[in-house]
Amino acid sequence: MKPKKPMDAAERKRVLDQLHRETAARAAGYRERALKLFPHVCASCAREFAGVRLKELTVHHKDHNHDHNPPDGSNWELLCLYCHDHEHEKNGMAGHGGGGGVGDPPGASTLFNPFGQLDGLVKPPES
Ligand SMILES: [Zn+2]
Ligand SMILES: [Zn+2]
Repeated sequence: MKPKKPMDAAERKRVLDQLHRETAARAAGYRERALKLFPHVCASCAREFAGVRLKELTVHHKDHNHDHNPPDGSNWELLCLYCHDHEHEKNGMAGHGGGGGVGDPPGASTLFNPFGQLDGLVKPPES
């Protein structure tokens, strides 16, 4: 019988909060840096973003590693929300195996045995 220490939960929350803050700060950091490095244009569809619409321009990591932020910006690409989505969909498909023959479940051909019936049809019982 070990009573749970309330400190554990509080400590955990504190650490998580800090982690969130750091991640957010880092995210804001590289976005700011990328926006300073690159022209405010989507690298994919070449639309320009200025003023309030600038928030639609996002930083894509070319190697998909958000912790890989070289100061020269070589791992960044500015993409608008739509192109960014598209970019990740494209790459997600390859990894997640987005298919697998829905119309051809592996057990189907063994459950339905056409030869059993065919046998009876081609060989009529002789009498
Ligand atoms: Zn775009
Ligand atoms: Zn991305």
